[in-house]
Amino acid sequence: MLLKDLASHFELYAVCGACRRMARIDLHRLAAELGGEVELDAIRSRVRCRACRRRTHDIRIVYAGPCGGARGFHYR
Ligand SMILES: [Zn+2]
Repeated sequence: MLLKDLASHFELYAVCGACRRMARIDLHRLAAELGGEVELDAIRSRVRCRACRRRTHDIRIVYAGPCGGARGFHYR
């Protein structure tokens, strides 16, 4: 999956098992930096925990729907 596809429908969270942090990755900023043609695996290899500086290589993908709309359905 490519970054541009992820950015339109998904949210990505970086996970650190060591200190149990979960931080949302800003896909639009990443796309501006790297371009949209970046593979998910390339993003995974860049993930680093801000607290312990470990490269965790662990990410969670959350389906958010077009423009994040699908998430709102939970609250109706
Ligand atoms: Zn950590």
